[in-house]
Amino acid sequence: MTDDLPLADRGLVVTGGSRGIGAAVVRLALAQGADVVFGYHSDEKRAQALADELSAAHPGRRCVPLRADVSDTVEARRFATEALGHLERFDVLVNNAGVTRDTLFARMAPEQWHEVIGTNLDSMYTVTKPLLMPLVKQRGGAIINIASTSGLHGIPGQTAYSAAKAGIIGFTKALAKEIGARGVTVNAVAPGLIETDMTAEMPQDKAEFLKSLIPGHAFGTPEDVAHLVCFLASDRARYITGQAIEISGGLVV
Ligand code: NAP
Repeated sequence: MTDDLPLADRGLVVTGGSRGIGAAVVRLALAQGADVVFGYHSDEKRAQALADELSAAHPGRRCVPLRADVSDTVEARRFATEALGHLERFDVLVNNAGVTRDTLFARMAPEQWHEVIGTNLDSMYTVTKPLLMPLVKQRGGAIINIASTSGLHGIPGQTAYSAAKAGIIGFTKALAKEIGARGVTVNAVAPGLIETDMTAEMPQDKAEFLKSLIPGHAFGTPEDVAHLVCFLASDRARYITGQAIEISGGLVV
């Protein structure tokens, strides 16, 4: 590890890496010297364009997109196995893929509940399971799970999402205790409101109201979150584990 390349020669697997926070993590990890395999679900063109751009910008590094629905056990297992095959070494898993299907609980259809739980929470099992033993055997590495302010504090209209993200935090703490002795850290990152497609759908008046609750009156950027994730992925964070670190501009203090 050098000061300017804290992820030099590390191998990362990032789910949901084709846009938003995941894409910012992929971008920064490559800039910090890593090889990256990233997942996407529906937008192959976008994923391939990102991989082409970053491969050209970082000759000699690997940046490989793989399609998989992480809520599907079979696809997730295939994704994990293929990802390992593309990397010379594997050090860091970033479980980032997620969706929201906001609605009041009284109106929530079972499909909405299952899609949110399946993509955000079940994927912790389906993706992490095949990738855990390589880290444990290597006796080193990091798992970073993207949770949310919603999982820490609960947000009306997001019962399924809050439940999934709170579940991620519990999963993170328990797994950190299980594998800490093997030199593998497990942390959750809980973003507040970040400028991505996920928040772009929000009505303007609601966005303005939420900004008024943030001390700096602004949403965060995907790069803000990527810097935290890449720090947790590096040796600099080797003594941090089992934490849920909120990155919300002080939305809740
Ligand atoms: P985003 O811009 O909507 O991007 C979502 C990513 O996840 C895309 O790459 C998408 O791939 C992928 N994805 C969605 N469903 C998937 C599935 N079933 N299987 C595999 N990949 C799937 O989201 P974001 O805002 O960057 O959010 C990233 C993470 O941060 C999520 O876990 C989210 O819950 C969390 N978060 C976001 C915010 C925020 O304010 N943005 C706040 C707190 C937490 P395709 O494009 O190919 O479909």
